[in-house]
Amino acid sequence: MSQKIYNFSAGPACLPEWVLKKAADEMLDANQSGMSVMEMSHRSSDFENILKDTKDRLRRLMNIPEDYEILFLQGGGNLQFTMVPMNFNIHGADIINTGQWTKKALAEHKKLAGKTTEVASSAADNFTYIPKIKQEDLSEDSDYVYICENNTIYGTKYKELPPHAGKRLIADLSSCICTEPVDVSQYDMIFAGAQKNLGPAGVTIVILKKDMLEQQRDDIPSAMLDYKIYADNDSMYNTPPTYGIYMVGLTLQWIEEIVGGLENMEKINKEKAALLYDYIDSSKLYSNPVNPEDRSLVNIPFVTGNADLDKEFVKEAKEAGLVNIKGHRSVGGMRASIYNAMPLEGVQTLVDFMKDFEKRHANV
Ligand SMILES: *Cc1c(COP(=O)(O)O)cnc(C)c1O
Repeated sequence: MSQKIYNFSAGPACLPEWVLKKAADEMLDANQSGMSVMEMSHRSSDFENILKDTKDRLRRLMNIPEDYEILFLQGGGNLQFTMVPMNFNIHGADIINTGQWTKKALAEHKKLAGKTTEVASSAADNFTYIPKIKQEDLSEDSDYVYICENNTIYGTKYKELPPHAGKRLIADLSSCICTEPVDVSQYDMIFAGAQKNLGPAGVTIVILKKDMLEQQRDDIPSAMLDYKIYADNDSMYNTPPTYGIYMVGLTLQWIEEIVGGLENMEKINKEKAALLYDYIDSSKLYSNPVNPEDRSLVNIPFVTGNADLDKEFVKEAKEAGLVNIKGHRSVGGMRASIYNAMPLEGVQTLVDFMKDFEKRHANV
């Protein structure tokens, strides 16, 4: 392949070249073990070191307090939509509906015991903004407030967490984890599939306040669905996704040692996002439908206002090496996912292409 490809996929997404090269270097002989990480026993000291190193790095990078567990699970973000209510919905769950991922969480909650309340929704405006709620909007007896912090499909993001006095806060950070520093102590549980910002598909990271594990439901139907079992067994109740955990570890190493931490990561992500948003806002052809104050840093949808022209854009972009830029089927148009691993040059190349496309199609 001679043409440089920039991959704007929403997930699985591009990975840092540094990570892929290191994984390639270590493919046949990881840490002088004479084998690939894929071949290691999860009970071996080699793998135990990888697991510990990955956890330690995440704790350092995100500044995760000691009273939080870090777990590595499987089943993606979607299994969390089930596990959260199965473990923690005793008196009720308050869900703020901001798109596809909270709709799915709502649907899974409703299959299980415990009351589920949709406390606010931006569905009527096709999820183009984050609804602001007040403490009094919450149910009196609910256990937790549940949010999706960055809405991958619609390109919205919470800039401020919702009020939740007296209740837990559980947040899906699948598409924004480690894109910027966060104050973990503001949450009781964070979960995130790795395949957007931190590695390949197959690993889900759960960061959970330890005292949550003392307040679980007592009717959890499987050990594999029980957070406490994972915590008690250091994520090794059964064989964990070993290679995925290793790749997450390499990606965290890249953020820590090459990028220089989450403050720098945020700075770079803001620069990339500003480049694209500023151009979209100045252009006569393209627009971004999201309420400006709720715009995502990493998922940026845009349209030309003409469905045929959008199609042509996606086709020509692909020919120019800018791939996977088609919007989600529920939104249409285009979407550029510019997660941690997308370099600034990738966004600059996209903007240059957009300018050229606009010039060539100015009178459509
Ligand atoms: C991608 C995504 C999910 C779903 O993840 P799976 O691993 O496919 O289950 C959930 N929530 C958000 C915010 C996502 O971006």
